[in-house]
Amino acid sequence: MKEYDIIVVGAGPGGSFAAKTAAENGYNTCLLEKENVSVNGRYKACGGAIAWELVEEIDYPEEKISRIIESLELHHTDGEVFSKKGKGAVIWRNVFDKFLTDMAIDSGAKLKEQEPLISVKKLKNHYQVTTKNYTYLTKYLIAADGVTSFTLKTLKWPYFSSKDLILTVTQEMKTTKSKIKQDLGEDTVHLFFGIKDLIAVGYAWLFPKAENITVGWGNQINLIKNSREEFKKFTSLPFVAKSLINSEMKVFQPHLIPVGLRLQLYNDNVFAVGDAGGIVDPISGKGIPYAMMSGKFAIDTINTCEKKDRLDKLGITYEKTLDRNFLKVLKLKREFRDRIFQNDESLKKFLSLWENHRSSEIVVRKLM
Ligand SMILES: Cc1cc2nc3c(=O)[nH]c(=O)nc-3n(C[C@H](O)[C@H](O)[C@H](O)COP(=O)(O)OP(=O)(O)OC[C@H]3O[C@@H](n4cnc5c(N)ncnc54)[C@H](O)[C@@H]3O)c2cc1C
Repeated sequence: MKEYDIIVVGAGPGGSFAAKTAAENGYNTCLLEKENVSVNGRYKACGGAIAWELVEEIDYPEEKISRIIESLELHHTDGEVFSKKGKGAVIWRNVFDKFLTDMAIDSGAKLKEQEPLISVKKLKNHYQVTTKNYTYLTKYLIAADGVTSFTLKTLKWPYFSSKDLILTVTQEMKTTKSKIKQDLGEDTVHLFFGIKDLIAVGYAWLFPKAENITVGWGNQINLIKNSREEFKKFTSLPFVAKSLINSEMKVFQPHLIPVGLRLQLYNDNVFAVGDAGGIVDPISGKGIPYAMMSGKFAIDTINTCEKKDRLDKLGITYEKTLDRNFLKVLKLKREFRDRIFQNDESLKKFLSLWENHRSSEIVVRKLM
């Protein structure tokens, strides 16, 4: 039976960054992925918006970017529009995820694709991990297999409450560059809000890619009566309907976003990373950078605690590192989200503040 120091389950941004960091630190690392990791591989529902800082940090090649963004328009259903400046990129997830997985492979991690984990068993000092094809042993297990994490389900970790799950619907619409330029603007993403008339807790969006528009909608799962009807209501808004005239639907896919943390992020040499841990911005649903950072910090934690011979401190060190870097702010945002989505008045107050401030600044400085 092949033995690894670290098995990472899931080659999304969280898993690939964890595997890269682990291999760079000399750990014998295996990255398990149930799908085919390829630019032509499986479609992953995602707006694909990332901040320019992230593009620069990982040296993401410009030719892999689908569209460079300079601004954000925030539409309220009562007709008011708020504008926000800020450089970012819109990417296709199969291209982006493959780029990160290649970084992990280049660092020395062993990728096993089309190999879903199907069971995990705790032995005395190891975990026995069984996939569709093989059985492996590992000392540490990184659960980076997304919001429905089969790894954590098998280990009987508690799941998210329905208040902490957003159900999203994504449509990929093929259109033309000139139509995007005319209706949406060349470098603008559009978000749509309205508690009474559109979405109780959440928002909808139009993200232009090169010759596509990613149309998305997300609402807190326990408040949804009929997702198809509610999604249709969004696409019937005059601004949205006009931008989608003559476009062709290529994909229609539901997916969950966790917007609250798991009750635990570590137990007995197992770390929850990214969506598996609910490590997502609860207001915007942004999760890519937090998945990558949590993957890195899980490995940094193992490295630090092993060096200090303090394996009893793995859990506390992981949580403290996350808190210090960004998790404290995400926890504040989770509380704040309930206040923003109380009614349309407080939502609009938030949107007007968001025009000129980062959402973390609004929360930390208690601007509303
Ligand atoms: C509609 C939508 C729009 C979004 N838009 C944005 C956005 O614009 N910007 C942003 O930053 N975030 C966005 N997010 C959030 C973002 O997609 C996630 O936070 C991010 O993908 C989390 O990365 P991850 O690595 O934790 O998990 P994932 O990307 O979900 O990766 C998990 C991986 O695990 C694999 N896997 C699952 N089960 C197994 C198994 N049993 N064995 C092996 N492998 C397995 C999966 O195939 C997958 O590759 C959006 C999410 C949704 C749903």
